[in-house]
Amino acid sequence: MIDLHMHSNFSDGSLSPTELVEEARSLGLTAIALTDHDTIDGVPEFLEAGERLGVTTVPGVEISVDTKLPNNGHMHMLGLFIDPTSQTLKSTLDYLREQRNLRAEKIIRKLNELGIPITLEELLEEAGEGSIGRPHVAKILVRKGVVASIQEAFDIYLAKGKPAYMDKVKLNEVDAIQMIHDAGGLAILAHPHLMNYPTFEEAKARILQLREIGLDGFEIYYSTMPREYSEGLIQLAKEMGFATSGGSDYHGANKDDIQMGRGLGDLMVPDELYVELKKFWETRTAQKIAVGK
Ligand code: AMP
Ligand code: ZN
Ligand code: FE
Ligand code: FE
Repeated sequence: MIDLHMHSNFSDGSLSPTELVEEARSLGLTAIALTDHDTIDGVPEFLEAGERLGVTTVPGVEISVDTKLPNNGHMHMLGLFIDPTSQTLKSTLDYLREQRNLRAEKIIRKLNELGIPITLEELLEEAGEGSIGRPHVAKILVRKGVVASIQEAFDIYLAKGKPAYMDKVKLNEVDAIQMIHDAGGLAILAHPHLMNYPTFEEAKARILQLREIGLDGFEIYYSTMPREYSEGLIQLAKEMGFATSGGSDYHGANKDDIQMGRGLGDLMVPDELYVELKKFWETRTAQKIAVGK
């Protein structure tokens, strides 16, 4: 069993990269990927722990894409097998994180206007060195007794359309894919069902458009992905030669219904998927070298 989508405390997960690897080892996972939002700063520690503890670790990142989608849908792009030393990747991510900080200030202001006492200092402390996200805000609201749970914080204040929601600055899909490719990674569409297209056929059409601008593949397994959706995506990947990935989107205690590896309980991403994905990446990398890119 493997898990190629998880967050550490370098973004909005609760465990450190080392703790993620330790947890993976105790669960018997053979390969895992760290995919923090807008940062690769946790990757060196993650790779080092993987080596030390004998778990295969994949360097990754998760980027939110600015695009038009129906029904409040969202598009997230994973970069897998990215080069953790890439300076261009780092500087773009630094910019995105600065923008997250500015957005965090605006969220705080909105909450204050709603009469909720929360300060930027508290938020910065909650997020630590990491990429600030709404789950950090939610955690503080729970701690202060403003809401009963992280989910309630989203449902009442933080989700899209709620009074303290603020959009964040995002890359468009061309730039997101380009950035991942420039850093030597595969561009993998995360949780395609969350684009919220009313039908699978529409999601498929969108995926085929993304391929025109370089999409390499997509997740076929994910905690909340309906089985028929997985099956449709597996078929599409086979027909069109897409790379496939899968993972739980583990956030530790910050999303306590999701378990590493097992998702909501019935997730099972097979080992072969890592082997195939790695092969895909190696072939892609060899092709790039051959054409001198
Ligand atoms: P941010 O990066 O600040 O936009 O926050 C994104 C994180 O918030 C993701 O990891 C999601 O898991 C979580 N999140 C976003 N929307 C919701 C929601 N409606 N309910 C619960 N969690 C959410
Ligand atoms: Zn997250
Ligand atoms: Fe995501
Ligand atoms: Fe994620």
